[in-house]
Amino acid sequence: MNQPLLDIQDVTVEYPGRGGLRAKPFRALHSVSLDVQRGECVGLVGESGSGKTTLGRSVLGLAPVTTGKVLFRGQDIAHADRGRRRELAADIQVVFQDPYTSLNPALTIEQILAEPLTVRKVPRAEAQKRIRDLFEMVRLPADSGTRLPREFSGGQRQRVAIARALALKPALIVCDEPVSALDLSTQARVLELFKDIQEQTQVAYLFVSHDLEVVRHISHRVAVMYRGEIVEFGDGDQVTGRPNHPYTQKLFFAAPIADPDAQAQRRKERRQLLAAQNA
Ligand code: ADP
Ligand code: MG
Repeated sequence: MNQPLLDIQDVTVEYPGRGGLRAKPFRALHSVSLDVQRGECVGLVGESGSGKTTLGRSVLGLAPVTTGKVLFRGQDIAHADRGRRRELAADIQVVFQDPYTSLNPALTIEQILAEPLTVRKVPRAEAQKRIRDLFEMVRLPADSGTRLPREFSGGQRQRVAIARALALKPALIVCDEPVSALDLSTQARVLELFKDIQEQTQVAYLFVSHDLEVVRHISHRVAVMYRGEIVEFGDGDQVTGRPNHPYTQKLFFAAPIADPDAQAQRRKERRQLLAAQNA
C-alpha cells in the first residue's frame, strides 16, 4: 500500500486530572492507531465520551498527545509548533458539529470564505473565482454572499462551514459530528454533499459520528471506539454489517431504522447473533 495520508500510531492522550496538582491525569486515548489513505473516508464511531473528538483533536494539534505519532504525509505533526500548524492549516481542515457557533456571526458569507484566502495572500480576482466555485460546490445560491450566518438554516450554515474548510483545497478534513445537529432530511442531504465533494476533489475525511447509520453511509472504512480504544477497524460494510466486537454489535443494533421490514430483519439478525454468542 502507498504511504497513508494520515497515519496515527499508538497515540495516547492524557488530560490533566481535575482537582489540583496531585490529581491523576485522565487517559482519554490508549495507544490508538488508525490510518487514512488519500481520498478515503474513514468513519470513527463510538458512544459519547469514548474519545472520538480527542482523536480528531490530536490530528489538529489540539490534544495533549503524550506518546505515539501522528504522521501526516510521513511527518510527525503531533507536536508541530505554531508556524508548522499554520502551514498545515492549508492541508488539514475541520468541520465541527455546531454550525451556529463555528461561523463568525458578524461576517457575511463571502467574508467568511474570503478569510482563509486573504490570510494566504491569494490574489483578489483568483479569490473571488474560488469563492464562486465554493458556492457551487456546496450548492449555495450564488447571491448568498452578502448575507449573514443567522439568515441561514442549520443545513445551509453547515454548507458554509464545509465551503470554508474547502477554500484552500485541503487533503484531509476532520469532520466532528458534522451532521449531528441537523434534522434527518437535512442530514441526508448534507451527507450526500460530503460524498459528492469527496468524489469531485479526492479530499480525505476522518468522519466522526456517534451514529453508526451516518458512518455506514459515508465511510470506506470504519473504526469503532470504546473507552479510548479502537476495538474494531476495517471495511465499512464488514464493520457495520457484520460486526465482530460485542460493543459494535450493541451500537449497531441500537441504531434507529425507519423501515419496518429492515427493522424486523435487524431484530432477527440480533437474535441469531446473541444465540451464536451464548452457544
Ligand atoms: P467523544 O467525542 O467520543 O464524546 P471526547 O473525546 O470528547 O469523547 O472525550 C473523551 C473523554 O475525555 C471523556 O471522558 C471526556 O470527559 C474527557 N475529556 C475531553 N476533553 C477533556 C479535557 N479538555 N479535559 C479533561 N478531560 C477531557
Ligand atoms: Mg465528540
